[in-house]
Amino acid sequence: MKPLHLNTPLLRAAPGQFSHPEVWLKMDALQPSGSFKLRGVGRLVRKAAQDGAKEIVCASGGNAGFAAAYAGQALGLTVTIVLPETSSAAVQSLIEARGATVLRHGAVWDASNEFAQALAAERGATYVHPFDHPLLWEGHASLIDEVLDQGLDFDAVVTAVGGGGLFAGIVQGLRRHGLNDIPVIAVETEGAASLHESLKAGQAVTLPAITSIATSLGARRVADEALRLAQLHPTHSLLVSDAQACGAAARLAEQMRVMVEPACGAALAAVDVHPELFARFKRPLVEVCGGVAVSLEKLQAWTISA
Ligand SMILES: *Cc1c(COP(=O)(O)O)cnc(C)c1O
Repeated sequence: MKPLHLNTPLLRAAPGQFSHPEVWLKMDALQPSGSFKLRGVGRLVRKAAQDGAKEIVCASGGNAGFAAAYAGQALGLTVTIVLPETSSAAVQSLIEARGATVLRHGAVWDASNEFAQALAAERGATYVHPFDHPLLWEGHASLIDEVLDQGLDFDAVVTAVGGGGLFAGIVQGLRRHGLNDIPVIAVETEGAASLHESLKAGQAVTLPAITSIATSLGARRVADEALRLAQLHPTHSLLVSDAQACGAAARLAEQMRVMVEPACGAALAAVDVHPELFARFKRPLVEVCGGVAVSLEKLQAWTISA
């Protein structure tokens, strides 16, 4: 079975786009699901279909749910996505347009997720976690395979971190090619800093609440595997503000004519917000993770506030 995700373009940033002279961008915003999530979710859902699954259930107010709906439809499965009551109507209609049934349950994701797990168990459906599963990490790791195939000699990888699934996939991708010394710059927004706080404490920390606008980074606790890999592999944990993340998303739209969420803006912003760190690298690679919760109207508001 062929993967569901695309091999996305690898572009060199235009002169002056960043303060650093040679930044490379892996354009996962161009995946048919609008984010990198299809890499891992597609891997997990394809395996489930091969094993005979007829139905999948996923709890996500955003890109994981949309990727699950996309993957399920492509493979002819019945898809149920559980959204928190606070999720936007726009995301719900995107998911429904892919043929999935949307249920609303719980004020926050944790409650939707418990409900989704129980529902999957009751129906004998495959449960799709948004960030904590080995097949997700294996799927996300494909982005590193592609960049190596594309021939880039990069010396650091910059990624946004929510629950840490993307981070874990990137670290696994590097390590399976023996690139154990290439550091990963793990970027979170202030108010969604679950990995940052866990690294400081030396153990997994559950944040009391998420206060960042970058909702796709809003996991109160990272996957244990993400923390383990951050302690094993050379990792720099950085924070940027919501305003910096939004400003970077608005700038990308103007410079490259591509819209991304503040979650993705966080990774882009880090290069300019932390120049002293990036001065150490010749050719940093930024994972442009994308996201569908963005619109012209939102970008305009972010340009003004940035
Ligand atoms: C899911 C997501 C993230 C965070 O990924 P994790 O695997 O949860 O760390 C970042 N950006 C976007 C656009 C996402 O959809």
